[in-house]
Amino acid sequence: MIRALKTTFRTTKKDLKRLFACNRNSAQVWNDCLQYANEHHLNTGNWINKSELQQLTRGRYNLHSQSIQSVQERYLQARTNAWKAKQQGYNHIRYPYKEKKNYPTRWKKDGFIINPDGRIELKMCLFNGKRQPPIKVKVAKLPPGQIKEIELTWDRQLMLAISYEDGYQPQENNNEGMAAIDLGEIHGIAGFAENGHSIIITSRKLRSLKRLRNKKTGDLQNKISRCQKGSRRYKKLRRAMAKTSRKTERQQRDILHKTSYKFVKWAEANKVNQVIAGDVEGVQRETKAHKKNPRRRQKNRMTNQKLSQWPFGLLLTYLAYKLQFKGIALTKTDESYTSQTCPVCNRKKKVSGRTFRCYCGYTEHRDIHGAKNILAKYKYGAIKDLGIKQTKVTYLRPAV
Ligand SMILES: [Zn+2]
Repeated sequence: MIRALKTTFRTTKKDLKRLFACNRNSAQVWNDCLQYANEHHLNTGNWINKSELQQLTRGRYNLHSQSIQSVQERYLQARTNAWKAKQQGYNHIRYPYKEKKNYPTRWKKDGFIINPDGRIELKMCLFNGKRQPPIKVKVAKLPPGQIKEIELTWDRQLMLAISYEDGYQPQENNNEGMAAIDLGEIHGIAGFAENGHSIIITSRKLRSLKRLRNKKTGDLQNKISRCQKGSRRYKKLRRAMAKTSRKTERQQRDILHKTSYKFVKWAEANKVNQVIAGDVEGVQRETKAHKKNPRRRQKNRMTNQKLSQWPFGLLLTYLAYKLQFKGIALTKTDESYTSQTCPVCNRKKKVSGRTFRCYCGYTEHRDIHGAKNILAKYKYGAIKDLGIKQTKVTYLRPAV
């Protein structure tokens, strides 16, 4: 199975500069792809294809040839994805159009040399008739297994995302059931399986962690705002701030790993072979400023912070590969209205407490209610009563 390891690295000042330049150059390739594709479409009425793009961009950037190719591939992929989304009726999706200032550079298999002690040479190609020396970096720990690709990405600082083959094969199973999950802020994962069992893994710890972080960074921000920019105290406080957020990040990742691990155990025990998750893409988008009435955002600042800091994406990523390893598929589905609709009478209602209570008498734990509705929506295309008797609820916490 292909896995990825994101890691920091060491390098010289000079090479660090060159690495920054790589991501700027990759952005230039991206921007040129946009422009060439546009011109091509205007002139010929057709879409530009891979070889035409390659001809236009070959050798023109200070990057390894495969790194240039990788940008083109990502551009073409983005275009195809947008097309597919449009086919499915998502008309608000646009073809790639945004110019970038930075874009992650990738080195493919001929683009790097790995030394067992963690030194990595990232190759460059001829540029302006001159051979460019490789960029040398060193990582503390190489991932176990064969390295497939290295990406230079930005996450508060430049980092390397190393994809590698871990040598494991997904396990065979003869599971048959389906389960759906609802990801929430308090109950990290609420799941419901077709055999009638459900699970709730709380994430209160994660929430308190985030609160503490917000408070700490708030205090620091306050102090920083009273310092002169660039002063010694300013720099010291900035470092403290970065340290706090790195620490929270690590703790958060730890909790998410434990949460996903526990869920996978439960899914295995309940003979699940497919897990359906609500597509939470929209969660963050909706927290952006309200178009007609920007002041509404002000009002909801607390909620916004709460929502956008909930690492749904990360949890899903961890779940996906842990489930895959056990031979269980993870499928995303549209989750709109699943939390508000009563499966019995289909009336809509905003939930306020921990329990969903409908006028018709239906009651259910809020998050299990959501998971059940996601399952119904996936299986039947509509929110309705599944007709499965709920037999067992497992409550877990990520730590222990
Ligand atoms: Zn009802």
